[in-house]
Amino acid sequence: MIDAHIHLDQYNKEQQVTLLASGASFITVSTDYASCLANLQLAQHPAVHSALGFHPEQPVASAEQQAAIFALIRKHVFDIVAIGEVGLPYYEQVDRDAHIALLERFIALAKELDKPIILHAVYEDAQVACDLLEKHQLTRAHFHWFKGDTATITRMIENGYMVSITPDVCYEPEIRSLVTRYPLSQLMVETDGPWPFEQEFSGQLTTPAMMARSIEEIAHIKQLPKEQVATQLYTNTTTFYRL
Ligand SMILES: [Zn+2]
Repeated sequence: MIDAHIHLDQYNKEQQVTLLASGASFITVSTDYASCLANLQLAQHPAVHSALGFHPEQPVASAEQQAAIFALIRKHVFDIVAIGEVGLPYYEQVDRDAHIALLERFIALAKELDKPIILHAVYEDAQVACDLLEKHQLTRAHFHWFKGDTATITRMIENGYMVSITPDVCYEPEIRSLVTRYPLSQLMVETDGPWPFEQEFSGQLTTPAMMARSIEEIAHIKQLPKEQVATQLYTNTTTFYRL
């Protein structure tokens, strides 16, 4: 199994050792400059592929921090598989224009370097992200933890964008209906770990093992054999990220 979106740097050392020994592969995404450095270090492990970026759910990066992250991406262009996690804030909608401007810079850089981009952009923010992706003709886009309206979902499918599904597909009607509508060929699975999940996962440390249940539910919704769905999701991820 491959976890298409995890924050490996946010686990403690002991947990990282256990995760790396689990046999899963990881796309680990970064939240700020220090996180970028930690993920570059983790990507020395053959099962770990890193993405560098700046998470939008925080005050927008200073000009100095932006410059440092952009320089790091250019320096490590052959060590990383993508730019991310980037996007627009959902919880605290401050500095919106500055966040949009930074997102556009990341999209332009991804286009220039021919790297995929990993987006955190839900509801109306997804439309803004689509506008920018179309403006810069960047088609290799991965929307993680996606939620949005029917028109945006249709637009994303037609543009060839990928979506990754979190373990809440086991209990969230909104995610289950997204799986119904989105083509299997454009889906991946993720944990967004260590972000915690509810219901059957309540109180558990988030690990890629949870994706076995996600795959089971996706297979059930798509009315397809579990093994076929697991293979397709794996292939989608390795193909999209050119692993
Ligand atoms: Zn994330």
